[in-house]
Amino acid sequence: MGEVVSVEKFKALSPSEFFYRNKEIAGFSNPARALYQTVRELVENALDATDTHYILPDVKVVIRSEGVGGSTGVVADESESYEGVLYSVQVEDNGIGLPPQHVPRAFGQLLYSSKYVLRQSRGMFGLGAKMAILYGQITTGRPAEVITSQILSKKIYYFKVSIDIASNSPIIHEYSILAKNSDWHGTTVRVYLIGDWQRSKQKIHDYVRRTAIIAPYANIYFEDPEGNILMFKRSTEEMPVPPREVKPHPYGVDVELLKRMLSDTTAETLKDFLVNEFQNVGELTALKIIEGAGLKPDLKPSELKLNEINELIKSIKATKIKAPSGRHLSFLGEKLIELGLRETLKPEFAAATTRSASVYGGHAFVVEAGIAYGGKILQSDKPILLRYANKIPLLYDESADVIYDIVDPKKFDWSRYGVPSQSPLAVLVHVCSTKVPYKGVGKEAIADVPEVEREVRIAVREVARKLKAYLSRKAKEFEEVERAVTIAKYIPDVSHSLFKLSDGGVKREVLEEKLLQLLNRRLSMFKIKSLKDVVIEVS
Ligand code: ADP
Ligand code: MG
Repeated sequence: MGEVVSVEKFKALSPSEFFYRNKEIAGFSNPARALYQTVRELVENALDATDTHYILPDVKVVIRSEGVGGSTGVVADESESYEGVLYSVQVEDNGIGLPPQHVPRAFGQLLYSSKYVLRQSRGMFGLGAKMAILYGQITTGRPAEVITSQILSKKIYYFKVSIDIASNSPIIHEYSILAKNSDWHGTTVRVYLIGDWQRSKQKIHDYVRRTAIIAPYANIYFEDPEGNILMFKRSTEEMPVPPREVKPHPYGVDVELLKRMLSDTTAETLKDFLVNEFQNVGELTALKIIEGAGLKPDLKPSELKLNEINELIKSIKATKIKAPSGRHLSFLGEKLIELGLRETLKPEFAAATTRSASVYGGHAFVVEAGIAYGGKILQSDKPILLRYANKIPLLYDESADVIYDIVDPKKFDWSRYGVPSQSPLAVLVHVCSTKVPYKGVGKEAIADVPEVEREVRIAVREVARKLKAYLSRKAKEFEEVERAVTIAKYIPDVSHSLFKLSDGGVKREVLEEKLLQLLNRRLSMFKIKSLKDVVIEVS
């Protein structure tokens, strides 16, 4: 018998080709989801280009139906042989704009980004805009359009760009420069794609509304293909402090990163390298680390050998180093979260809490929580859960998120906080970090990192306690009012008796008035103005 020789074919894929084949992992799994994801990625870029740079965001989103499409044939969900509709998604911002030389690659080369630095931002993978453009291009064959102008630039740049999938490089179809005679700056991106508005409508509306909750300082204009307009005007000009770029914390480095940093540094000695290139490392700490590794402080960084690098890492782990502070992070703060909840959900009560920074794997993170109760919120057996990471609303994969279990009535005993099982309740959780532990590049769920889980649990308990205090105060007020109403019924009788006792010396009306005043004084201790208000409210 002859041997069976199987011949395997080997080849390499470009990142574009990889994501072209695996669109689903970036959230582009079908025409409905793709439309949602396109809106989302473009809006996130718009907000990154504004609030990260202390610009009050003006963001305009327009989705238009451009007629029945699918003419180019290739549609994401081939199994359904989907007859899609052609849409355009246009997102305009008043952000910092892009330098023209970076536009082709920022929009035409996957994994090209200005956000691969240690600074909190909504984008982090260098994929979003490109995935939208790639999806648009494979479903319609059309390139994307980008108009951009930087602050202080005298020119406006226009590009028509698509992606060469095999080589992962931009194709420029059109390019022009216009003179600018205003002080406008910002970026407009338009993508054509085969989408499904009917099936994504709810999610997209939700997404825009939830973005408005977390960014009450933004103007957001949204126009959908049916001509509906959602307009969120900013309710404050106060913005969260923008994030700052930080150096890595020693606890977050591994062999590869350390190797690269050692070869890139301009520091002359190992000691200076540790002090200059890391967060929270002063001379003393640096010397301790070096001593622990059995090395010399004046070694040249580029000359460290692999075993010395390993020793250095071991010593770093064994040395007590101040944890990263959260000062470089951009969180909302209690006031803005409460405002966002009040403005959009119109509840009877809202409260928020911002925890101080914690750390996982060398990354600082801050957890905030908000709670809203009553008013226009609908009753449900589960609280409405508003999840956010780095100011991005997370809508899909709710049950896979570490936050979900914590708030779930099956696991969280809401009755301990005076919240009945059927309640008009919304809970907001915001995790921000230079590195949010997402479960996938579609950025929809946060992984169950124990440190994060713990902080979320504490934050939710804190706001739940605030709600509890409010509810019990309210219950007490109610009791007091009920008692007052009962007592008030006896006032005519009592004043009549007193009138008789005083032999008619004091007028009945005066006695009645006096008794009522006494009652009102007691009620005012509970912030109820007067029995009259209550009686009117009750009746
Ligand atoms: P990511 O946001 O993860 O970096 P994207 O593909 O969404 O990846 O965007 C690539 C880069 O293009 C961004 O890092 C940013 O520098 C730039 N960019 C995209 N959209 C805008 C915009 N609206 N304004 C300014 N810069 C933008
Ligand atoms: Mg992005």
